[in-house]
Amino acid sequence: MSERNNWNDHASANGFYPQQEIKRTYTPEEAGHGRRRRPVSRYRRRRRRPPNPGVILIVLIFVAVFGVCIYFLASGRSAPAAGTDLLSTAESTGAGTGEENGLAGKERVLVLSEEAVHTGDLILVNYAYPYTFPADAEEEITAVSAYKNDKYYVRDNNSKLRRSTIEKFNILTEAYFAATGFSSLQVNSGYRSYQEQVDLYAEYVATNGEEYAKAYVADPGYSEHHTGLAMDLNVYVPGEGIYYVESYEPCAWFRENCEDYGFILRYPSEKVDITGINYESWHYRYVGTPHARIMEEKDLCLEEYIDFLRSYTYDGTRLLYDADMGVTETLAPEEPFTEGTLIYFVPAEEGETRCRIPADCTYAVSGNNVDGFIVTAEKAAS
Ligand SMILES: [Zn+2]
Repeated sequence: MSERNNWNDHASANGFYPQQEIKRTYTPEEAGHGRRRRPVSRYRRRRRRPPNPGVILIVLIFVAVFGVCIYFLASGRSAPAAGTDLLSTAESTGAGTGEENGLAGKERVLVLSEEAVHTGDLILVNYAYPYTFPADAEEEITAVSAYKNDKYYVRDNNSKLRRSTIEKFNILTEAYFAATGFSSLQVNSGYRSYQEQVDLYAEYVATNGEEYAKAYVADPGYSEHHTGLAMDLNVYVPGEGIYYVESYEPCAWFRENCEDYGFILRYPSEKVDITGINYESWHYRYVGTPHARIMEEKDLCLEEYIDFLRSYTYDGTRLLYDADMGVTETLAPEEPFTEGTLIYFVPAEEGETRCRIPADCTYAVSGNNVDGFIVTAEKAAS
């Protein structure tokens, strides 16, 4: 079948127009995320004896010497190299364990550039927050056909995505095939450059008029397809035709399990008021794990999730995801991070932002494309 459906953002089969007024009524509290605190254990107090002046003197001398040592250690510690090197993508950003460079047992501090806010797997690109086309991210855009596995199709050799997105999609489709034997998903549309979105818009204006184009095609710069993290999927059955993922029965596994591999259905029907985009049953987006799972568990779209995460900070309550149990908890400020996946928000500062990372963990940092960074730190049980 030579003719394929050319689905684009905002285009829908039923001719339903997206809502013009976008309500942003959501607050983190409304999402009902509980701040469960674990009971603090009580220590038994021993009866104290009157202090011995000699002992006090020795302790004071020890504290003074210790304090001076700590001061010199702290002031001599240099910050890691700054900027985009650390943050070209959430994955490459993160590659690190505390054990390298003699950092075992020590908290580390990343220095993040202003531009880094606009890179990473968790960037929010919508009607309000345009994509900035960071050079490092653009370099990662590549032909899907060059890196894909044989467990799905790609519409043509020009279709592109971020290389990391292709790799994650390969893992997902391998698992899909292993579970069901199905390999007929097709990447119908992937990355679009600014100019491609300009052309697409012009094409819609020429064919259907300005009003129609406005309603159905994202303004250049505001489409999630610019990021290389998003793709439109359909089902291609050779000799038969094209089907929607939404209604094709063998796609049930994909719809139910894609979150486990870091992919979300980006524009669900019940979130149109928040995303500002009509229900798109074909548009999937990579955000990474465990974020996709948490969004599903809490029924949050990306706009809501980015808001939700602002409540969790390094010095305050942090989010703790337990992959084995598949549950999201919170960690109070006084509670140590011992195992699991810790998630917190670091607000961007003017110029550079210092971002603290817990000791002895692997981590990834992503900008949110709005006002800060999201740190995902993992620590195995010791
Ligand atoms: Zn799309």
